[in-house]
Amino acid sequence: MFDLVLKSGEIHDGTGSEGFKGDIAVKDGCIAEVGETVGDRAKEVIDVTGLIVSPGFVDMHTHSDFTLVADGRAESQVHQGVTTEVIGQCGISCAPVCSHDAIRSVSPWYTDRASHPHWHGFGEYLDVLDQSGLGVNVMAFVGHGTVHRAVLGDELRAGEPHEVDEMARLVEQAFDEGAGGFSSGLEYFPGILAAPEHLVPMCEVAAERGRLYATHVRNRDTHYDLGFSEAIATARQSGAKLQISHIQPKFGAPDYAMEHTLEIIDAARSRDVDIAFDVIPHDWNHTLMAAILPKWAQAGGLDEVLGRLVDTEARERIKANPQPMWLIVKARRWKDIVLLNATENRNLVGMDFEEIGRMRGQDPYDAVLDILASEGEHIMSTMWTSKSFCNDDVELCLKQPECAVISDTVAIANDGVLKDLVGSLSGYGWAARFLQYYVRDRGVLSMADGLRRMTSVPAERLGLVKRGALKRGYHADICVFDPESVASNATARNPRRYASGIAHVLVNGQLAMRDGKRTSENAGQVLREFNA
Ligand SMILES: [Zn+2]
Repeated sequence: MFDLVLKSGEIHDGTGSEGFKGDIAVKDGCIAEVGETVGDRAKEVIDVTGLIVSPGFVDMHTHSDFTLVADGRAESQVHQGVTTEVIGQCGISCAPVCSHDAIRSVSPWYTDRASHPHWHGFGEYLDVLDQSGLGVNVMAFVGHGTVHRAVLGDELRAGEPHEVDEMARLVEQAFDEGAGGFSSGLEYFPGILAAPEHLVPMCEVAAERGRLYATHVRNRDTHYDLGFSEAIATARQSGAKLQISHIQPKFGAPDYAMEHTLEIIDAARSRDVDIAFDVIPHDWNHTLMAAILPKWAQAGGLDEVLGRLVDTEARERIKANPQPMWLIVKARRWKDIVLLNATENRNLVGMDFEEIGRMRGQDPYDAVLDILASEGEHIMSTMWTSKSFCNDDVELCLKQPECAVISDTVAIANDGVLKDLVGSLSGYGWAARFLQYYVRDRGVLSMADGLRRMTSVPAERLGLVKRGALKRGYHADICVFDPESVASNATARNPRRYASGIAHVLVNGQLAMRDGKRTSENAGQVLREFNA
C-alpha cells in the first residue's frame, strides 16, 4: 500500500530525458515506483492529468541563511516548486561566529523582529535551522567572509599566514559539523581583501572533502577576465571543484565578455580543472546598496560607515569612485536602477532613482547616500536592483549543458516577520519565470532540459544524496505544475506576489502545496551528508 500516487501526469525525471505519461508512487517519504502505471493501491490518489511531474527544484545559490531561521516556511520558494535550497553563498554565512553579538553583523537579511536561539559554531547553527520548521531542505555552505570576521573581526586586512591557517581550521570544523561547501564573495568586504594565497588553504580543505568551492568573482565588468582567471587559478592550485556563481557579466563589460569567459573555462577544463557555473535567469541584477561604497568607506564598524555617509568630503570621494561595484551607477543610468528593499525608506521601494531624485529635489547619487545613511542598522538589508545583465548573455549561458539556474535570493513570506522584506526582483518568481520566459516563450531550452538545470544538474554538482531526479528509492521531493500557465507575478512595484501554475509540491513525501494552495506541512530537513 503506497501513501500517495500521482496519477497520469507527464513525468520528467530531471535527467533531461523526454517526458512520458505515467504515475509516481510515494511511500515513507521516498519514491516507491515510477512508471507508465503503478496501480491504485494507495491511501490517496491525486489525478495530475495534463500537468508536468518533475523533481522539486534545487536552488543551489541563495542567501536564506537568516531568513530561514526567522521563518522556516520558505513560502516564496515552496510556492514555485523549490524543495531544496543551498545557503551560505558569496562568502556570507551565519556561522561560525565568536560571539552572539556577531550574529547580527554576519547574517544576511538580519532582522531584529525575529526572535531566535543563539549559536557559535556551524553545527549549532544548523541545529537552530533544523528546529525552525523548514518548508524546504537546506544544504549550507560556510562563507569565507564570515570565517574571516571570526578570526579578524572588522580589521581591514587579509590575514597573516597563521591567521589564514586559523580560518582554514574553522572551515574544516564547519565541514565536520555538516557544511556542504565553501564560498567566497570577492566583491564584498572582507572577501575583497583576499588574494588567492589567502583562499587556497581554505579551498584545500574543500578539495580534501570533495566539496565545492563556489565563488562570486572579484569583477564581472571591465576586468571580468582577471576575475574568472583568479577563480580558476585558486581552484587549480587547491584542487577544489569550482562553481562560478551567477556568471553573467555586468554592465560595462565588453559585448564579447560572456563568449570569452566560456573560452577561458573550456581551456582550463581541458587541462583538468573541474569547473561549472550557474546563472540568474533575469537581466536585472541585485545586490546590497552598501556595496557601492569603495573599500575605504566600508572599513570599520557600522558607526564609522554611517559617519562617512553624512560627511560632505567623504561623500564627494565616494561619488568620484572610478570603479564602483556597479558601473551602471557611474554611467548614471538612474532610470534602470530601482530601490528594492528598505526599512526606513519603505515608501520609496519599487521606485527608480531618477524618480527618487526628482521627488526629493536632489542628485540621485546623493539620494542613494542619504537613503543608506537613514537606514542605519538596516544598511545590510537595503537592496537595489538594476538592468545590469544582458539577456543574450543569459541565453548563451543557458545553452551550456552544465549551467544550473539559480535564484540568488532569499526565502521569505508575504505574511509573518519577513513580510516587508524583498530579496530580489524575482524572489517570488524566479523558477516560475524561468519556465515561463526562457523555456515556454523564448524556447531557449526544451522543457526536459530546462527542468534538468533546476534538478539533476545542481543535485549532482552538489553531491546531494538521492535528490534531484524522479527515481525509485529517491526522496520524494516533487513539483507538479501546469506548463501552460506557470508564471511569475512579481514586479518591482509588487514584488511579493506568489507564482502561479504550481499545483502540488511534495517535500520528503509530504504535500507542502496541494491544488495550488500551501498546506501547513514543513517537512524540510537540514542536509548534512553528501556524495563526494
Ligand atoms: Zn553573489
